[in-house]
Amino acid sequence: MSQGHTPPQSAPSVEWLPAWDAGRGIDSVMELGNTVFGAHTGAPSGVWSAPGRVNLIGEHTDYNQGLCLPIALPHRTYVALRPSTNEDIQLASRQGTQLWCTTWADLRPGNVSGWGTYAAGVAWALREAGHQVGGFDATVDSAVPLGASLSSSAALECAFAVALDSAFNLGLAETPEGRRELVAACRRAENDMAGAPTGGLDQMASMFCQAGHALALDFREGIPDAEAARLVPFDLAAAGLTILVVDSRAPHALVDGQYAERRNACQSAAESLGIASLREINPASLDATLESLTDPVQVKRVRHVVTEIQRTAEFIDVVQAGLVTNGAADQDRITHAGALMNASHDSLRDDYQVTVPQTDLAVDASRAAGAIGARMTGGGFGGATIALVRQEDVERVAATVAQEFASAGYTAPAFLESPPSGSAGRDLVVNDRAMRRVTP
Ligand code: ADP
Ligand code: MG
Repeated sequence: MSQGHTPPQSAPSVEWLPAWDAGRGIDSVMELGNTVFGAHTGAPSGVWSAPGRVNLIGEHTDYNQGLCLPIALPHRTYVALRPSTNEDIQLASRQGTQLWCTTWADLRPGNVSGWGTYAAGVAWALREAGHQVGGFDATVDSAVPLGASLSSSAALECAFAVALDSAFNLGLAETPEGRRELVAACRRAENDMAGAPTGGLDQMASMFCQAGHALALDFREGIPDAEAARLVPFDLAAAGLTILVVDSRAPHALVDGQYAERRNACQSAAESLGIASLREINPASLDATLESLTDPVQVKRVRHVVTEIQRTAEFIDVVQAGLVTNGAADQDRITHAGALMNASHDSLRDDYQVTVPQTDLAVDASRAAGAIGARMTGGGFGGATIALVRQEDVERVAATVAQEFASAGYTAPAFLESPPSGSAGRDLVVNDRAMRRVTP
């Protein structure tokens, strides 16, 4: 009698996407410039970079005048840029398929398409706002995975924003008010030129986050001003914790109709309630408000937004109070933070309905493997999840998620670690005589 037996299953390998040091980004975009535009055309004026972001909590709240709490990824998008003497815009990216070219005469919404709209759109929005921006050549490379809901689009826009700002001497990046103007230009580029109706969270994060901090954003009055954008110390390492990011590799696209559909549902609900935005709903009277809505889909959408704003406020309070008390990790606060993350995901899955099987699985597997809390991050419909994990559990949680994906037959996910990192800025100054590195 033959005995059937299954061969031992080897654990799938865990793919980590490391952050780059500035030197790697600088070398890559300089080299690409030489290849594409030719060394004879001269060096760029410099290299600039901007980070992707992880939103800790507060999802689909920015366009409802609510609260969000992002941190910047250590993963950045690098841009080498040189003003040209004509009205041409020529761009090349290691993540783009070909040279992307336009002229100032052709650069207007609806008349251009493709990845370059995010970059050239920033130049267009700055000119629309009255700033003097001419033609330019630029090359791009990025450590931020594209389309993973870690905001490669805002990283690209913000890297161009600070590059154009210094190459054309606009002087905006030096002050918070100026940076807010750059945020507005980036958002216009994304909304009007690229056609993605996102709400401003991503660009605020890329332009304002700082290492060791989370950025508490209040969109009640639109793009947050100095008072509404507050850096909160967020020392995960001191509490023995880290944020594990899972790129589910389930592709997402914010330019398809789903994101706009959610925005419209919120707007229609606000209109039928006779209020300017869902922020005006008092959480204490949420049940009564929901009873006055007749559309069951609107009920779900509104319930998510109102409870998510509340959860975000609570999470900000926890972070503000500190994850370390008297030199030791504060387990009550850490557990509370994790529970809020879990509730956020469940609401995005059941009420806002923006998760997919891969992100639900990544969250479930992270929780089962010991994460303190886990949720999808970003707009949803694929993309990434995050887990709050003890440092000693990182490898195990990642291995469990990879194993569960393999068992389900999904494309293998990728993993990133995200200590809260710094904002958009310059990495390399180039002038007639010398090149000077600005960042380590
Ligand atoms: P996310 O911002 O979550 O990564 P989006 O759909 O908002 O996803 O933006 C991804 C798009 O942004 C890409 O499809 C591409 O058009 C553009 N993009 C972002 N980074 C780059 C890059 N380094 N090179 C070329 N295009 C990029
Ligand atoms: Mg984006």
